[in-house]
Amino acid sequence: MSDLETLGAAELKTRLASLKEKFDAFKHQNLSLNMARGKPCPEQLDLSMDMLGLLKTKDDLKDSNGNDIRNYGGLDGIPDAKTFFAEMLEVSPKEILIGGNSSLNIMHDTLSMAMFHGVYGSPAPWSKLPSVKFICPSPGYDRHFAICEQLNIGMVVVDMLDDGPDMDQVEKLAGSDPSIKGIWCVPKYSNPDGITYSDEVVDRLAGMETAAADFRIFWDNAYIVHHLTDRPDLLKNIMKACSAAGHPDRVFMYSSTSKVTFPGAGVAMMASSENNLNFFKKQLSVQTIGPDKFNQLRHVRFLKDRDTLKAHMRKHAAILKPKFDTVLKILESELGDKKEVSWHKPNGGYFISLNTPDGCAKEVVAMAAEAGVTLTPAGATFPYGNDPRDRNIRIAPSFPSLSELTTAIKILCLCIEIVIMKKSLSREL
Ligand code: PMP
Repeated sequence: MSDLETLGAAELKTRLASLKEKFDAFKHQNLSLNMARGKPCPEQLDLSMDMLGLLKTKDDLKDSNGNDIRNYGGLDGIPDAKTFFAEMLEVSPKEILIGGNSSLNIMHDTLSMAMFHGVYGSPAPWSKLPSVKFICPSPGYDRHFAICEQLNIGMVVVDMLDDGPDMDQVEKLAGSDPSIKGIWCVPKYSNPDGITYSDEVVDRLAGMETAAADFRIFWDNAYIVHHLTDRPDLLKNIMKACSAAGHPDRVFMYSSTSKVTFPGAGVAMMASSENNLNFFKKQLSVQTIGPDKFNQLRHVRFLKDRDTLKAHMRKHAAILKPKFDTVLKILESELGDKKEVSWHKPNGGYFISLNTPDGCAKEVVAMAAEAGVTLTPAGATFPYGNDPRDRNIRIAPSFPSLSELTTAIKILCLCIEIVIMKKSLSREL
């Protein structure tokens, strides 16, 4: 029984009135605090400013093969970038394609191409089939779901557990329904839960029987190097696991430097089997003359090697960790006694995922907005914006300053308390 259930209506009303007074006081401050999206803060962006001055002379503009990068050529990226990012993703340079400035863009291209032409080995373009569906572990990343929605790909929700998607559900769906062509995964420091998939989950994804022969795992490894502590979560290599399980073409892996250097001006990449990449490149060659090679070269010159990258990411962590700690500390002190409220404590990534009691998230987010705190819309972490339990709220602590964050989270906690209390009261009356 929660503490509120022991209180009578009169006591609840008194408490609610005093919480509302606090809320009104915040409201009168005319605040404008935004925790809606995982944007790096200005101090993080400053960490990469030196990159911009690295390409100055003609001689700086040659890749490791001696090619002049000022000219056309290099559809799938410069060799320097392939070597560097292949090491980051733990794949071979033959299994990687370096793209433009956004991994989401490559994911969208992969799926659009699949609809038009299928993927390597497809018996038919996916759009020619009566229906195409994707498994969407949820809560998940809203922009993945938006791509499916736009391309008319049906979405089937499966639960996220503490070590990844509920694999019993995934195996059942993928194994029985040939219209299920893929699954979205953010396997490391997932958006929004901050969960890293266990080895068992990776092995089951790699080895499972699928009713569709051309089933694909969309492995969005956006947060692969984004640790918050010196003891990073470990993620098993899915490409190797798939090859070992006899499904070498099952994975499309994505990542980018959006949150390593500059979002919107980073370098994005896709790793996959050579068969998949060759199939993809054939269509890419019709679509584009090639990516921005200047940006690729400046990134490799700036990030240099594994140790330099690690040191750079430690600087990001030094800025981000106090923000995550602040959120977690306030949640604990303000909501720690509420059994129906829970949250994850991630070791990396960009988000803290908070679950209110069922049926409260929308009201909480709307109320926080009234006090000037913008959160990701409730429901956005589920396909079609529909959180069936209306309980998940995604907190993005990276952008606000520590003091703004403190105020914003206090307001969020206050809104949660008020909404819970209002619901208790309505049950009492
Ligand atoms: N994937 C995930 C899981 C993300 O959280 C984000 C950024 N919020 C992206 C992809 C976007 O990546 P990019 O900037 O490379 O398009």
